[in-house]
Amino acid sequence: MDDPTVHGALGKSIAQVYTIEFQKRGLPHAHILIVLLAADKFSTSEHIDKFVCAEIPSSIENLRLHEIVAKCLMHGPCGIDNPGAPCMKAGQCKKMFPKEFRTETTMNVSVYPLPK
Ligand SMILES: [Zn+2]
Repeated sequence: MDDPTVHGALGKSIAQVYTIEFQKRGLPHAHILIVLLAADKFSTSEHIDKFVCAEIPSSIENLRLHEIVAKCLMHGPCGIDNPGAPCMKAGQCKKMFPKEFRTETTMNVSVYPLPK
């Protein structure tokens, strides 16, 4: 937390809050909200892509990390492959999976940016 909040890795932080949670399968993770000074807020998809990356680690370069991500961090299966999954309601995934594949981040005015 010191890198983004004290050392300004993302820009000047003016407020922050975080919580540590455990996935159903035991992997701890953090939900972090950092409010940046207005001048430092991310305003373009290119700026976001400098700091955010959502990729599945390579099974060739790091098999163990690939397996952990595949087991603990990926959503599903749900939808027609598993209609009894806990995320399913009225025949659809409540979390809106699967998500559309994106080759680039898209800025979105009213909700989160849509990451590549
Ligand atoms: Zn689902």
